[in-house]
Amino acid sequence: MAMTMTQKILAAHAGLESVTAGQLIKAKLDLVLANDITGPVAINEFDKAGFSSVSNDARIALVMDHFAPNKDIKSAESCKKCRSFAKRFGIESFYDVGEMGVEHALIPEKGLIAPGEAAIGADSHTCTYGALGAFSTGVGSTDMAAGMATGEAWFKVPSAIKVNLTGSLQKYVSGKDVILHLIGMIGVDGALYQSLEFTGEGVKSLTMSDRLTICNMAIEAGAKNGIFPVDDITREYMAGRCERSWTAFEADADAPYTRVIDIDLSGVPCTVAYPHLPENTHPADEGAGIEIDQVVIGSCTNGNLEDMAAAAAILHGRHVKKGLRAIVIPATPKIYMECVERGYVKTFMEAGCIVSTPTCGPCLGGHMGILAAGERAVATTNRNFVGRMGHVESEVYLASPVVAAASAVTGHISHPKEVESE
Ligand code: SF4
Repeated sequence: MAMTMTQKILAAHAGLESVTAGQLIKAKLDLVLANDITGPVAINEFDKAGFSSVSNDARIALVMDHFAPNKDIKSAESCKKCRSFAKRFGIESFYDVGEMGVEHALIPEKGLIAPGEAAIGADSHTCTYGALGAFSTGVGSTDMAAGMATGEAWFKVPSAIKVNLTGSLQKYVSGKDVILHLIGMIGVDGALYQSLEFTGEGVKSLTMSDRLTICNMAIEAGAKNGIFPVDDITREYMAGRCERSWTAFEADADAPYTRVIDIDLSGVPCTVAYPHLPENTHPADEGAGIEIDQVVIGSCTNGNLEDMAAAAAILHGRHVKKGLRAIVIPATPKIYMECVERGYVKTFMEAGCIVSTPTCGPCLGGHMGILAAGERAVATTNRNFVGRMGHVESEVYLASPVVAAASAVTGHISHPKEVESE
């Protein structure tokens, strides 16, 4: 029976020859992930269920990223709970301050996920790892607890949408614009409980950073997961990161898709999602009348080195608009260090930005840049729901690093060509 790429990975992990959309399966897991918000809830469920050991099969990763370094007593207690659980069961992939980065940037960077593997995470943006040709998806803390104990999880096999990419991106346009463009086309429930399977000759023109950003936001279209084929770019990314052998799965030529969406990458504009949904998309060059108070460049969506480089290129030799707060957050310590060594931190600071230690921070309205009533931010994050970055009367505009950097310079939503032509 013909299967999509996701279905092939799920079948292999369920020990079945084939699976079909809608089938309920129990699959072995390669990775089970939680953070400092969801980890404590999962640990409570783990203890309540009476589990006394963790799986030897699945890798367990606990990443203290959301409210760390701890912003208050409650977050300190949450991290403490995860810390003592990791100690109790000898969990090696426990990442605390000094080693931690934003989880969905850290996990691929550390080689904790590989093509063909299956992962769950008690965090909705776990779908990021589809960029590597893995199946990964977000789950609740109860499934997380069971996954830690048994190394397995149940799934309803998703049907799939094929996203056929052609052409290549224009100057200033990146993976963030592609995924915002797609969500603008299909809506925030356009791929509900489906796989978004990216394919076509345009794939090869997308960097790994583009692919990570695109898969990160698959959930913003309601998708169960996003996934890219494994190619030379994937192999180059994995080289030296992971000693495990891994499998590159491919969709069958006659795999079943409920829908095919064609996107010519050369026609994707720099795109901004206005409040309060990622589907509310507009071309960046139409935003000149929208004054902003803050810019955030970072998060699991756009905190990678390529994102930092893109923002630094715009900010080099320029200054952020007086009165505007610009916050740059490299997603992992390794990326932070590279930003120091390449001079990006100097560029950001000379431009009037602050550069934070890796953390989720303002992305979820946690700390490091909360918005007051009536304030507006352009952010490279992935959600712009009501109150996401602070007060319910604040607004978040989602954009790529170059659009965010250009907007920081002008003080309003700007296409980067607006500042580069000055
Ligand atoms: Fe969630 Fe934002 Fe952290 Fe990503 S950066 S894991 S979206 S809070």
